[in-house]
Amino acid sequence: MKVAGADVEVDRDVCIGAGMCVMNAPEVFDQDDEGIVVVLEPEVPAEHAAAAARAVASCPSGALRRVGG
Ligand code: SF4
Repeated sequence: MKVAGADVEVDRDVCIGAGMCVMNAPEVFDQDDEGIVVVLEPEVPAEHAAAAARAVASCPSGALRRVGG
């Protein structure tokens, strides 16, 4: 997915369902029935970029991870 133009990798196999992403950016992330992250906005709109960046920073498992520059 793209957050403020940066590539963010989402690895559902690594997600532990902590829910920090949904708490930080409910417009961008959801959790499925098992609590595993679901991306609602693969191209995060500008108004949600800051919240999405906080979500990436707060993910405890590394399931949300900035890649590249
Ligand atoms: S914060 Fe990370 S570990 Fe927690 S639900 Fe979101 S992606 Fe999964």
